[in-house]
Amino acid sequence: SKITIAIDGFSSTGKSTLAKQLAKALGYVYVDTGAMYRAVTLFAMRNGFIGGESEKLEDLVQLLPKIKLRFEPNEALGFSEMYLNGENIEKQIRTLEVSNYVSRVAEIEQVRYKLVEMQKEMGKEKGVVMDGRDIGTVVFPDAELKVFMTASPQARATRRYKELLDRGEKVSYEEVLENVQKRDYIDSNREFSPLRKADDAIEFDNSDMGLKEQFERLLSIARR
Ligand code: C5P
Repeated sequence: SKITIAIDGFSSTGKSTLAKQLAKALGYVYVDTGAMYRAVTLFAMRNGFIGGESEKLEDLVQLLPKIKLRFEPNEALGFSEMYLNGENIEKQIRTLEVSNYVSRVAEIEQVRYKLVEMQKEMGKEKGVVMDGRDIGTVVFPDAELKVFMTASPQARATRRYKELLDRGEKVSYEEVLENVQKRDYIDSNREFSPLRKADDAIEFDNSDMGLKEQFERLLSIARR
């Protein structure tokens, strides 16, 4: 029978690649919770609540009910894309600029509350692979299979740097490394649901271990 799979870990450890492969092999739904935090961040940037001259994160909290998020499957691409108030924002949320602000938005208690409620709803039926930072600890503490992924900051920055270059962003390796380390720091030290390995999570260090090996191991556990 179907289960819930929670995949947490540091930034750019390959969580989403692994989660997508598992979801595909099992016929499960994949949910990228980072995309949701990124969408709220894009909304905050567009409205000048963060990243501008003066920051007004209290105003963001006021407007949270106006933020409508939705994942819509793109059959051609084989994955779901993020929509913010009806607009496809999949490309806009993957920039280094959004990455630079997202952890500060994700610290806000009301933002977390809203998104965690949505995530619980999306995973109400078993057969979901969800990746993020607090899935095994907060969203689905009873998930049957939990994974916690780590890798050296250098391995992670290299991965993210390549992704950004592939998307045509002009970034340096150094600024990507700085972003990855800064996000991990904020994510691990925030007050509300900080990034933690759940006691019952399997830990993977992805620095040099092959994805294939991890995938096969998880698949065999999930199918038991
Ligand atoms: O997974 P991704 O790198 O896209 O996540 C972007 C940011 O969103 C993280 O650095 C973290 O600040 C936040 N996040 C979170 N909780 C989650 C998923 C993402 O706080 N479940």
